[in-house]
Amino acid sequence: MTSHSMKPTKGISMTQSVTTHSLGFPRIGADRELKKAQEAYWRGDISQAELEAIGRELRLKHWKLQADAGIDLIPTGDFAWYDQVLTLSATLGNIPLRHRKSHIVAKADHAIHEGCCAAHSSHAQSVSSACTDIDLDTLFRVARGRAPSGAASSASDMTKWFDTNYHYLVPEFHPNQEFKLSWTQIIDETKEAIAAGYTVKPVIIGPLTYLWLGKEKSEIFDRFDLLDNLLPAYQQLLQALAATGAQWVQIDEPILVLDLPAKWQQAFERVYHTLKHPALKILVATYFGSLGENLSTALNLPVAGLHIDAVRAPEQVLTVVDRLSAHKVLSIGAVDGRNIWRNDLQKSLNLLHTAHSRLGNRLWVAPSCSLLHSPVDLDRETKLDADIKSWLAFAKQKVQEVVTLKTLLVETQNRDALVQLQLSNAAVLARSSSPKIHNQKVQARLAAVKPEDAQRDSAFSRRIEKQQAVLKLPLFPTTTIGSFPQTDFIRQIRKEFKKGEINATEYEQKIRAEIVDCIARQERIGIDVLVHGEAERNDMVEYFGEQLDGYAFTQYGWVQSYGSRCVKPPIIYGDVSRPFPITVAWAKYAQSLSDKPVKGMLTGPITMLFWSFVRDDQPRATTALQIALALRDEVVDLERAGIKVIQIDEPAIREGLPLRIKDRASYLEWAVFAFRVCASGVKDETQIHTHMCYSEFNDIIKAIADLDADVITIETSRSDGDLLQAFENFNYPNDIGPGVYDIHSPNVPEVESMANLLKRAARKIPAERLWVNPDCGLKTRRWPETEAALERMVQAAKILRSHYQGSTTPSKQAVAELLEA
Ligand code: GLN
Ligand code: ZN
Repeated sequence: MTSHSMKPTKGISMTQSVTTHSLGFPRIGADRELKKAQEAYWRGDISQAELEAIGRELRLKHWKLQADAGIDLIPTGDFAWYDQVLTLSATLGNIPLRHRKSHIVAKADHAIHEGCCAAHSSHAQSVSSACTDIDLDTLFRVARGRAPSGAASSASDMTKWFDTNYHYLVPEFHPNQEFKLSWTQIIDETKEAIAAGYTVKPVIIGPLTYLWLGKEKSEIFDRFDLLDNLLPAYQQLLQALAATGAQWVQIDEPILVLDLPAKWQQAFERVYHTLKHPALKILVATYFGSLGENLSTALNLPVAGLHIDAVRAPEQVLTVVDRLSAHKVLSIGAVDGRNIWRNDLQKSLNLLHTAHSRLGNRLWVAPSCSLLHSPVDLDRETKLDADIKSWLAFAKQKVQEVVTLKTLLVETQNRDALVQLQLSNAAVLARSSSPKIHNQKVQARLAAVKPEDAQRDSAFSRRIEKQQAVLKLPLFPTTTIGSFPQTDFIRQIRKEFKKGEINATEYEQKIRAEIVDCIARQERIGIDVLVHGEAERNDMVEYFGEQLDGYAFTQYGWVQSYGSRCVKPPIIYGDVSRPFPITVAWAKYAQSLSDKPVKGMLTGPITMLFWSFVRDDQPRATTALQIALALRDEVVDLERAGIKVIQIDEPAIREGLPLRIKDRASYLEWAVFAFRVCASGVKDETQIHTHMCYSEFNDIIKAIADLDADVITIETSRSDGDLLQAFENFNYPNDIGPGVYDIHSPNVPEVESMANLLKRAARKIPAERLWVNPDCGLKTRRWPETEAALERMVQAAKILRSHYQGSTTPSKQAVAELLEA
């Protein structure tokens, strides 16, 4: 476990040596130990000390795993109790007042407890004593709106990390805000790793990326102006990290792969001049794309090294090698940190060879980005098809691939490494020709797709009339997004069925009983368009993936989505088709229980694509269209079975948006086309819904309208209804349900707040096109708060309806007057 075992093999001269490192390892644990511990702590089943012990154990395990594989520099700072951006916010003292301990104390006993943190006080805070205003529960309050200690208050916004399905807590910024080192977790964990014998490289997010990812909580300023206030806190942090004995620090600036406004781009040089530290070498890490016109900025930074993503942007490698100054190291991210395919070692080697011959020991090898986005350990999979398994690599294997690449560079005759190279070559060959991957029928159907396949029979205005004649919904119809609480009982029966402990008939009876219960509750509450509750689904993507050909699924391939939530993305390895109907029997049964419409519920092609691990051997557009055709059959079958409303969820559509503006139009074109192919096989009378959440939708609102869904239900409440802004400038043409409450929090929303949000919406969207619904599915909630919230939501809809009595289609003007009154 000591660092000595990680040194390059004896006999390798220093000029040839190559350094390996990783940009971060998944923190959840191969068995989701962290998730289980977090949730147990929140429930009150374990103490904070027990939670902390589990975290420590996981960190040690992951450091050891990487060191044993032969990684030279072990990352610290990649562990987080909820989210690494939130950890950094705490580190910098940027915790909203409403979540702070002092705020809660002040509220409780009126004794204003002057916070020791940056925003409140000017007296010096020594680095070693942690800020008494922030503790572990503070972090959980920011993330979840509540924690075992302290009063509930609204959680911070959460949004997707670049174009991944990882969600971070959005930092909140205020005018003239000051920052100060206030939470020492990263420093403590670095010391912990050093004490355990590892050669470490702490990882933090850089100041420009941190600012970029945050959000102003007041309109009167630009968060960029906080940069100078932010840097002293970073200096304190770097000073403290240097004091641990770490020699390198990795500072992530992934915004260097975005189209940056000039002032952001120009600030880089100044920032890194300011952050220079005599005892600490800085590696600036970029990933998820190419540096593009930020290339010179990145190359000119006064730092000791640069990391680039050679998986997403292999074309930049030689240019960077050419232009790198002579004293800097270049870390090449050659192993895909975001996908599960085994590395094509020969291809990577070809790229690395040139770099190695030019850079010598200034070459570092790494995964392309943090392995946070990849599952932990392929070795644990016992049920995967052997061929498919031989084509894959998870985090543990990726770390080994990095070391193999280094070995192949510096020790060309190493037997083990050569065996790995052969295995990799064999996998590449097998994938290119395997009949498990290539399906003639699917390819023929794909080739026959026509533009009309993406077109409903009539325009929306005509369709909605026909739909209303069938559905007869009131003004402000109420609905939910699909899932209802996934109780322990439901999880239990799914597990028993999977293990073969109950047979299919017993399972079906039990799920049916859940549907009966769920429909009855919705009828009692007075919801207008019902759902069956999704009790049969473990996960909205995995469930469909399991029943489509071309998809494989894993037993333990968990990836963190946010906080304690993990997803197990299926693997799209081959051409996709639907052998049998998937949801029809459940939907039909649910509809038989009610006179109200019950929605058929599907996951759309784009979300099926982005929440799966996708093929890297054909364009994503092709895979998307294959899925769309498979799901189109399901949509048509649902209609045939008498289902009048069908929801095709597309929460992932925004995260597929390329990071660079120049690539966006073509993505949106194929994504919209795939959705429309999926949705357009039905009659005008059948109402197609879609649902989206937890993304910035404002910049793709036009494409969302182009989906031409009859109704969209969309998350709005967590960002204070910011989305509604988009409707100032864009006249969304079809029906829309802006989510009226945040389902991530167990707090029961007030009727008034929901009614107010609807009133705000009605100022911008004609009342007859508004729906009333929560932000997202309710599977993570419990029944008592769910029923209480939905009862209030129905009351809010009733309040709105009472405003419009007698006028079912009031003009925009009339609505405005009514609302001002
Ligand atoms: N229908 C899904 C549900 O309610 C949608 C979930 C999502 O948007 N992420 O669970
Ligand atoms: Zn959602």
